[in-house]
Amino acid sequence: MKSKQPVSVVTGAAGFLGSHLTDLLLSRGHKVIGMDNFVTGSVDNINHLGGNKNFRFVEQDVTEFIFLEGPVNYVWHFASPASPIDYLKIPIQTMKVGSLGTHKALGLAKFKKARFLVASTSEIYGDPLVHPQTEDYWGNVSTIGPRGCYDEAKRFAEALTMAYHREHNVATRIVRIFNTYGPRMRLNDGRVVPAFVSQALTNKPITVFGTGTQTRAFCYVSDLIEGIYRLMMSEHNLPVNIGNPREMTMLEFADAIIKATKSRSKIVFKPLPQDDPKQRKPDITKARTILKWEPQVTLAEGMKKTIAYFRTKV
Ligand code: UDP
Repeated sequence: MKSKQPVSVVTGAAGFLGSHLTDLLLSRGHKVIGMDNFVTGSVDNINHLGGNKNFRFVEQDVTEFIFLEGPVNYVWHFASPASPIDYLKIPIQTMKVGSLGTHKALGLAKFKKARFLVASTSEIYGDPLVHPQTEDYWGNVSTIGPRGCYDEAKRFAEALTMAYHREHNVATRIVRIFNTYGPRMRLNDGRVVPAFVSQALTNKPITVFGTGTQTRAFCYVSDLIEGIYRLMMSEHNLPVNIGNPREMTMLEFADAIIKATKSRSKIVFKPLPQDDPKQRKPDITKARTILKWEPQVTLAEGMKKTIAYFRTKV
């Protein structure tokens, strides 16, 4: 018997991760219904899909009821602002999409008997007191700080996802996404990769926050999306970290970008934003064992592609 073409719904399909996920799903034979309301997403990220008969776009705020005709096999809930600067500007929308948006996306999955995956985040660990972060760590989050709107919305999203799993038996997956980079990040989203690369390409000062000793670990987008795809197709319903464990300080990262772009930029120090996590690095033992996943793209390779993309944007 010929197997039916799978149908996926991607919320946040015009965003950085949502658009790369959409491309991967199309390349693996899915029909994709992409949703976005362009609060932080951009039509530029999905323009290339115009005319693709397997892609349909629905302009929708996913905090409102989602109505779709026909079968749906997979719901991938990626809609959300994801940069600290964005969610500082629009904290209420950030909380609504993480809470009400997750509720609507779960409701759709339940109604269609589809599998559901929520894009959670390393932010649920807050300013972590366990390093590297394992999935069984509960986190150190300030509810009332400037990042609380994002962190708590994502924590709520995880809790609601488990509730739908337990009460309604929805097949759910939770991915905790660590810092990711690559083409289609927004130039002015304030995150460290677009900030440093655009500053370096224009020979402007590189703005290192604090003393630059805080650490992050950066995963190239194609690696991340592959891990997420494997998680959805696995049978594992508890959270899984996906990220690259190669940890570096923001000062080291600034130096690497200056070298990679052959920039004349100098480093300047700016105040450290409130509640900025001091260190972050995923423990990916679960992803390695359960998903047989491991990042493949080196920072040098990934940065080369990312820099080439930003050259067309600055
Ligand atoms: N950062 C920086 N300069 C910038 C932007 C960010 O030094 O122009 C630092 C920020 O303080 C944080 C790290 O880079 O320690 C990563 O910040 P980002 O906004 O990318 O995301 P986060 O990992 O904090 O969610």
